[in-house]
Amino acid sequence: MADPTGPSVTFEGVTKRYGDLAAVDDVTLKIAAGGFVALVGQSGSGKSTLLKTVNRLTPPSEGRVLLDGEAVAAREPHRLRRSIGYVFQNVGLFPHLTVRENILINHRIAGDRAAAGAADELLDMVELPREFADRRPSELSGGQAQRVGVARALAGKPGLMLMDEPFGALDPVTRDSLGQAYRALHDRLRLTTVMVTHDMAEALLLADRVLVMAAGRIVADAPPQSILNDDLGPEAEALVAVPRAQAERLVAMETRS
Ligand code: ADP
Ligand code: MG
Repeated sequence: MADPTGPSVTFEGVTKRYGDLAAVDDVTLKIAAGGFVALVGQSGSGKSTLLKTVNRLTPPSEGRVLLDGEAVAAREPHRLRRSIGYVFQNVGLFPHLTVRENILINHRIAGDRAAAGAADELLDMVELPREFADRRPSELSGGQAQRVGVARALAGKPGLMLMDEPFGALDPVTRDSLGQAYRALHDRLRLTTVMVTHDMAEALLLADRVLVMAAGRIVADAPPQSILNDDLGPEAEALVAVPRAQAERLVAMETRS
């Protein structure tokens, strides 16, 4: 039987206040099961805060989040977090542990033989050689370390992946290839993915749906084609303008002779 598709994610009037600041301000939306959504916006717009309301790292001041219709607030936090993959910018691998130990850190059962095989499979999935299992994080490149971070997030067989600028610290070539490799993995494993990025080009090229956030609110919500072609307001326009202008300048340079 095929693995089930990842859960739908519903935000109902989600607000998170820090003193007078509404870091997230009354967000209501539903992400379909199996969707790949990019959350884009300037620094400080509330992207990370919104993401963390899903795995209960940040409880909302108001409103609620549901996975497949079930409120996350009703779930035991540690079990909930084990069922959700979470990848962030500087993966936070433990330097004194091997790659294998890092991958299995949340799921290791003492003396579990299956665990070693699971680590091998996870390394295959993120396209790292199995020999890397015995390395330490200091022996990895930035891109390799992020792949280990993705493998660790997948170790609990999550349906939902929350990714917070997962490839933000990488060089452009590594970033592009990892993004595409992850998208293929998302499709193959039928995950639901919410990926935070400040890079509109990355969002447009990877996601099915782009959410633009500004001052805690969702100010645009559309498929990539529409983000590019329709007037969705100044915030979306400002974010699209940068890669568009760069692409136009490059094309102009190429055709000049
Ligand atoms: P983004 O991820 O889009 O850069 P964040 O969600 O990290 O934005 O932050 C949104 C706003 O909330 C920012 O103004 C930030 O300073 C504030 N903020 C985030 N976390 C905290 C916190 N723990 N305490 C106080 N303010 C916070
Ligand atoms: Mg952030």
